[in-house]
Amino acid sequence: MKPKILITPKSFQKYKMKPIEMLEQQGFEVLENTTGRTFTEEEIIEVAKEGVVGIIVGVDPLPAHVLESCAQLQAVSKYGVGMDNIDLEKAQQLGIQVQNAIGTNNISVAELTIGLMFESARKLSQSVQTVKAMGWERVIGCELTGKRVAVIGGGQIGKEVAKRCRGLQMTVTIYDPYFNDQAFLDEFNVQRSEHFDDAIRSADFVTLHLPVTTATKHIIDAKVFSDMKPTSILINTARGELVDEQALFEALSTGQIAVAAQDVYSQEPPVEGDPLVALPNFILTPHIGAFTQESVERMAIVSTQNLLNMLEDEV
Ligand code: NAD
Repeated sequence: MKPKILITPKSFQKYKMKPIEMLEQQGFEVLENTTGRTFTEEEIIEVAKEGVVGIIVGVDPLPAHVLESCAQLQAVSKYGVGMDNIDLEKAQQLGIQVQNAIGTNNISVAELTIGLMFESARKLSQSVQTVKAMGWERVIGCELTGKRVAVIGGGQIGKEVAKRCRGLQMTVTIYDPYFNDQAFLDEFNVQRSEHFDDAIRSADFVTLHLPVTTATKHIIDAKVFSDMKPTSILINTARGELVDEQALFEALSTGQIAVAAQDVYSQEPPVEGDPLVALPNFILTPHIGAFTQESVERMAIVSTQNLLNMLEDEV
């Protein structure tokens, strides 16, 4: 019997021919997620409990008990970057190798971030909807040029955002305790703040580009909102759990901040009737940061190659 590979990401379907050919040529049988949605824990266990040696995973859940249930699993290849859906400690204990596809989607996520800045500043979708409804009301906006942006997390995506903001003649400050790329700061005339509070207080835009961990969960909470300018705009294309959504609801309802525009949410999709989603100054896109032709292609090829490298001795 051939060893099996499970491929879970929905968008993988858009660029699956070459990667599946690569896997089949190496002697693997490929199992796909044809549900048209993210797999549940139970579905992963059902499909992968026997004979699956590798998984190419999107945002589908791989907590400890799922990893334990997949008896032959040796390698998990993340189709993307954020690994918060995988219990990395358990994987290590079980000897399951894990790797992500670094550098495959940073441009796409950075471009969406800039798009959400323009959306927040100029109310683009609201204006389009007004005209579609045969209205002609104009909402006054603001320019990005000259505004201050705090980039929280200066990794692959944060740096691409910082460069683009400089291109728009914004003043950019990176807050990232682990950042040590002085050459980048010099080349793009970007500042670095040692203190999170300082970066937040002076910013017109705060944009999040850090992973969610026990230390960073709810890094944006009620205290942070009380420090932010009432005209400020929060952009989150990283992970929903970075923001305390109850506190965000309060901040947006009471005018502590002006707008929040996110591509991610604590529960995706949100539950019907969610009061935060209903607020006019809360903008949410359906996790499309990496969903471009270019990123999907790069993520598919790189995650497949990473998996093949990890399973080198398997076939
Ligand atoms: P990266 O690992 O290159 O960069 C993350 C940066 O965050 C690092 O430089 C790290 O030092 C910094 N950091 C860690 N803890 C921090 C803290 N407490 N305060 C400030 N900075 C801190 O990752 P990346 O590729 O730039 O991804 C950033 C985020 O974007 C991740 O959360 C990832 O899950 C998310 N993401 C979202 C999408 C999407 O579709 N919307 C796509 C890709 C990545």
